[in-house]
Parts: sequence; C-alpha cells; structure tokens
Amino acid sequence: MSVHAFRYESLPGQVLFGSGTLNQLPSEAARLQLNRMLIISTPGHRETAQRAASLLGKVAAGMFTDAAMHTPTEVTDAALAVAVDLNVEGTVAIGGGSAIGLSKALAFRTDWPQIVIPTTYAGSEATPVLGETSQGIKQTQRSSRVLPESILYDVDLTVRLPVMISMASGLNAMAHAAEALYSADRNPLTNLMADAALSTLIQALPRILSNPRDLEARASALYGAWLCGCCLGNVGMALHHKLCHTLGGAFGLPHAQMHAVLLPHALAYNLSCAPDARESLSRVLKHKEPAMALEHFARSLQLPRSLRELGMPRDAIDRAADLATRNSYPNPRPIEREAIRGMLLRAWAGDLPSAAELVHA
Ligand code: NAD
Repeated sequence: MSVHAFRYESLPGQVLFGSGTLNQLPSEAARLQLNRMLIISTPGHRETAQRAASLLGKVAAGMFTDAAMHTPTEVTDAALAVAVDLNVEGTVAIGGGSAIGLSKALAFRTDWPQIVIPTTYAGSEATPVLGETSQGIKQTQRSSRVLPESILYDVDLTVRLPVMISMASGLNAMAHAAEALYSADRNPLTNLMADAALSTLIQALPRILSNPRDLEARASALYGAWLCGCCLGNVGMALHHKLCHTLGGAFGLPHAQMHAVLLPHALAYNLSCAPDARESLSRVLKHKEPAMALEHFARSLQLPRSLRELGMPRDAIDRAADLATRNSYPNPRPIEREAIRGMLLRAWAGDLPSAAELVHA
C-alpha cells in the first residue's frame, strides 16, 4: 500500500468500554466535577434513563425523555427551557443517536459537558457533528463544542435493542466506515479503523440476528460501531450521508433503516471512481462487486429494501433529487442529477443497485 500525504486530527474525550459500565456514571460525573445533570432519553428508553438517574442520586437534577429522531429544533428549545429551569451544569444522554443528538444540540447552545451512554450503533457519540432539523430541512455542522467529554459503552444495555433496529443500526454504522474509505480527507488511521469496523460488523450482525442475547457478538458490534463513529468524526462524508440527511429531514424517514436501504446504491454510484475504497470493500466483503455483496448482506439480515416500505412517497423522488444535488460537496464521482434520480428510483422501488452504475467509468 502506498501512503499519500494526509492530515489527521485526534479528537479529545474519554471512552470507557465494557459490561456493567453504566455503574461508573457517578464516578464519571465526579471526575468532570458535575453536580447537577439533566438525563436525556427518547420516550421508549425512559426506564434506562430512570436507572441512570437513580445511580446519580442528587446529581440527577431532572429528566427530559422526549428526544426525537433528526433533532428537531423545537424539541431542543423545550429541553433547553427545562435544563435552564433546573440550573443544570451538564447532560447525560442515554440511548441512540436521537438522545445523543439532543444532548449535543444543548451543548452547542451552552457548552455544557456531556456524558453519553450509547445503546445503538449510530456512532454520534464519537463525532463533533450536529445535525438539526428545522422546517423540514436537516442541516449539519461540525463544532468541537458538541463532542462529548465522556462515552460510557455498556454492552449490557445493547442486549435489549430490538433485533431489527440492531440490524439497521449496524448498517448505519457501516455506512460511516464505507464512506470514510473514499472520503476526500481519508487518512491511514481512518482507513485502518474502517477496515476493522466493517470486518467486525460483518461478522457480528448475523450472530446477533440468530441470537440477540449473544453478549460476545453484541460487544463486537458495539466496538465496531465505535470505530465507525470515529471514522465519521474524523473525515467528511459524501453522497450517501448527504442523501440520508436530505431524506430524513424532508420526509421524516427512519434514520438507520434509510441508511440500510441506500448504502449499496450509493456505493454502486461511487465505487467506479474510488478504486482504493473498492479494493478494501471487496476484501472485507469477499466479493468483487462490493455494492452487490452489501445488498445481499442487508437482505440476509432481513432489512427493509426499499424507501417505499419506509414511507417515502413516489412523487417525492424529484424533490429529493433536487435537494440532494442543490449544494456541492466532495464526492468521488461528480454529482449528476439524472443519475441520482435514477438511483433514488431504484432505492424507492427496492431494485438491485444498477449494473449500469457498477460499470460506470
Ligand atoms: P434512535 O436514537 O432514535 O433509537 C431508535 C429507537 O431505539 C428509539 O425508539 C430508542 O428509544 C430505541 N432504543 C435505543 N436503544 C435501545 C436499546 N438498547 N434497547 C431498546 N430500545 C432502544 O435512533 P438511532 O438510529 O440510534 O439514531 C438516529 C439519530 O442519530 C438521527 O437523528 C441521526 O441523524 C443521528 N445521528 C447523528 C450522528 C452525528 O454524528 N451527529 C451520527 C449518527 C446518527
């Protein structure tokens, strides 16, 4: 392998990984000298948030359990009002990217320190990236203010993650690693992490599908998801993430499932212009057509295979193609509206990634 010139910036923050790690929450709060914290979760994860609050005792100043997908700004406003009223000094987010996204949105506005306890494979905990939705438009920005100070990975908390959310979330994680391989600012370390992350998840997800309580497979998946999050935090993403953000913000489609549907199509679009990424993906997927191999992998995990199933209306495709091609961003293959529209049409219908795209030169 030849090594090209690169820039790498290591991100600050502490990671504790293991089983029973949630019990270290009080000592983490003490280490960060936080005495009044707001516990954040989605409504479905209230019980776990309550557990975190019990562990923290009087350091838990209050709870906000209405976090929502795609970080709507009106939810952030409501949480901020509660937090200010409670006079908090920091946040504890427990759950997936929705809970962590809200915590990051609060940190962006206040610079409050954050302890995050991820229970899905979304990877938001490891990134200085904040995506927020206002009036149907999701916008993303990078800021060191939103990077959590402390991540507690407790594999025990992931065992009850419903198996189909686990599969979709795993593909969401893999998308970060896959796009990192052809990112304009990829570097040897993110390439290594992406390779290891993809291999780990390719092995772990089928094991979780057949036994969701397999702790070893759960630990592998969580480790892989952390590596994927590190890729996302370190390098810029391209077409695939742009499409997911656009569709998520405009049509409220479920984030992880949308990633799972679109990733093979986005790879089919891009890989002919990204030979190094193609080689790495071929190696980890053990197939000379990685986009197709990934589609079959997703099917074997029983994931939804069409945007139609996820609730996207057919007549939204043109608007989606317009939104996704409106602003320019780095991507290995030039962004061509008609080709993107064709790709979205196939993804909407649940067709295979196009052979025409696979041989695009
Ligand atoms: P999510 O956080 O909405 O979680 C999905 C569902 O699973 C929720 O209903 C939640 O209550 C439930 N759940 C979570 N963990 C569980 C567990 N262990 N057991 C049982 N139920 C559990 O979804 P997500 O896919 O994790 O996150 C999606 C959001 O994260 C999107 O808004 C996306 O934009 C954002 N995100 C941001 C970044 C970033 O770097 N900024 C990265 C990835 C994702």
